[in-house]
Amino acid sequence: MIMQHIISPDNSSPKTHELAFHYKKIIELLGEDADREGLQKTPLRVAKAMEFFTQGYEIDPQDILREAIFKEDYRQMVIVKDIDFYSLCEHHLLPFFGKAHVAYIPNGYITGLSKIPRIIDCFARRLQVQERLTTQIKDCLQDTLNPLGVMVVIEAQHMCMQMRGIEKQNSITTTSDFTGAFEHAKTREEFIALIKR
Ligand SMILES: [Zn+2]
Repeated sequence: MIMQHIISPDNSSPKTHELAFHYKKIIELLGEDADREGLQKTPLRVAKAMEFFTQGYEIDPQDILREAIFKEDYRQMVIVKDIDFYSLCEHHLLPFFGKAHVAYIPNGYITGLSKIPRIIDCFARRLQVQERLTTQIKDCLQDTLNPLGVMVVIEAQHMCMQMRGIEKQNSITTTSDFTGAFEHAKTREEFIALIKR
């Protein structure tokens, strides 16, 4: 098959143009006229949006943390809560989004607080399921910082459920995963109480 590359004035990569080519086909298969004015630039826009939503594949989240590891004797819980994230469910390629809450108890080393939202974005900007997203964030912190414990809680709304009418509108799916010190119910309860505030 000959690729009919969409002519654009920008310098998009061959990959972007190939994605756009396929999105144009999809629009046509859905019964639309891909050449009408409102849709002419849509394939290229969607291609660029999808590349943005999946840019996490190109980044090693452990590198983000390793950039900012500091020796510190603080041994109390460090909490970063209400971190907004947006991801795509790998079953329907539809958004799921919400808030992530992360706690860890340092074991001689801490990381820059701004790094935690960045590793969440890195994992969220891939094709995901909420359960794996939760576990990957936990594993990344545990493996890189070696803290006394990590806990991750994610609350999210899934467009694939809401738009298809499978769940009541605005239902929230909550997942959590933890290591080490968070195996004690009291430690988990302390974290949960702090994020509910
Ligand atoms: Zn889905």
